[in-house]
Amino acid sequence: MQILHISAECYPIAKAGGLGDVVGALPGFQKDLGNTVSVIMPMYRTSYLYKHEWDVVHKSGANLGHAWFEFTVIREKYDSQGFALYLIDINGLLDREKIYGYDDDTERFCAFQIAVMSWLNTWPDLPHVVHVHDHHTALIPFMMQHCFGFKRLAGIPSVLTIHNAQYQGTFSWDKSTYVPQWDSWKRGMLEWNGVINPLASGIKCAWKVTTVSQTYLQEMRISSNGLEPIFEYEQGKSFGILNGIDYKVWDPLKDSYLEHHFDASTIEQGKELNKRLLCDRFGLDIHKPLFIFIGRLVGEKAADILPQVVLDSFAHIGRKMNFLILGSGDPEVEDRLEEIKQISQGDYNVFIGYNETLSHQMYAGADFLLMPSRVEPCGLNQLYSMRYGTIPLVRKTGGLFDTVKDMGDENGYGITFTHASVGDVTHGIHRAVELYKNKNEFNAIRSKLMILDFSWDQSAEQYVSLYKNL
Ligand code: ADP
Repeated sequence: MQILHISAECYPIAKAGGLGDVVGALPGFQKDLGNTVSVIMPMYRTSYLYKHEWDVVHKSGANLGHAWFEFTVIREKYDSQGFALYLIDINGLLDREKIYGYDDDTERFCAFQIAVMSWLNTWPDLPHVVHVHDHHTALIPFMMQHCFGFKRLAGIPSVLTIHNAQYQGTFSWDKSTYVPQWDSWKRGMLEWNGVINPLASGIKCAWKVTTVSQTYLQEMRISSNGLEPIFEYEQGKSFGILNGIDYKVWDPLKDSYLEHHFDASTIEQGKELNKRLLCDRFGLDIHKPLFIFIGRLVGEKAADILPQVVLDSFAHIGRKMNFLILGSGDPEVEDRLEEIKQISQGDYNVFIGYNETLSHQMYAGADFLLMPSRVEPCGLNQLYSMRYGTIPLVRKTGGLFDTVKDMGDENGYGITFTHASVGDVTHGIHRAVELYKNKNEFNAIRSKLMILDFSWDQSAEQYVSLYKNL
């Protein structure tokens, strides 16, 4: 089967979060199952571009509304990711260092999708399935079916995977010409709540819709930033498929970001050596349990409650633990986290920014990972932490509910709680501090974590059988 993924992110070319990890890993696993897989993404100016060799495969132009733009498609020469990787270059729009966060993101991603469609329209052999990811590529199912210029693509089955329904890419009707000439009878397939809503359009038009965990799919019928009725209505074509983790990238025995490698049989020594490095670098006390948080400092991740969690833990449990936080996002949260460095007694530190190397070192050196997320479609951090023998403390939501079993339950291995509140998280931290004192139980849980199977194999097969049904 010939599978085409279209995405705004793909690790290691460009990643802002879990979407990048998934699109970086899933194609390789689908290829291992005997499929021909390609990924198309924007050509940002990230370091990957300059470190690899490329062939130009197509040059053309198209309209974005009334403005003409030129685009070039390049392909990585040696398929070093294990699948065909194509980048779309659009000068003036995509040629930037960052993936998102610009005022003209609507124009950037509309132009990207138009360029992909225009190029695909010229392929002699069309793919068997087009798989799009999140709102940046979610207008594609509409374009394939209802834009007059792309009618040749209308018969290709499309799958939309929703990695995060909070972001929908909405824009107003005065930009409706950004969608190339379309059948005006199909206006309802673009619109939701009075505006053009790419994610809503994708859910309506894609042949199948998937979310990255079963529980998240159910939750979206109750709360999905205004899309609840669509999820209710489109249940019949929607499925939850849990993300896996790429063991080639996330393996504490081989991870190139780590100085000290380990597996389940050498976990105690391996983790201690990694913890020592972190504690030395960030001025923390090696003898106390180390709690980490890694992620976007936004409301979805409940990052706003972290400062108070730290203060309340010190006040109510005592200075019996270390905290180390890595992330960037809401400037107010960033400032507050920086501020409490002042009260640190060698037990708190924060690194504001995005740092892939440090994230691996933290998963390896920490004792516990905090994930109090308000919304968590799948969550990869908890999977990485478990793979690296770090016990997750998670709120029971979305993919966290599906992947972490409380240690109080039969065969449990994590700490779970119900609310994204300071009280619930601090109570979880108290349980963790008690567990840390009981070294036998603590080590038994850590070793159990490392051998849990969250590989991609099963999920990759589920996607392929979904395509086959189409
Ligand atoms: P989301 O996609 O909602 O941000 P996920 O848990 O699905 O959350 O994926 C987050 C990914 O991004 C993980 O690989 C995590 O390690 C990484 N990550 C998030 N923030 C940072 C950061 N500041 N530095 C390094 N890696 C980060």
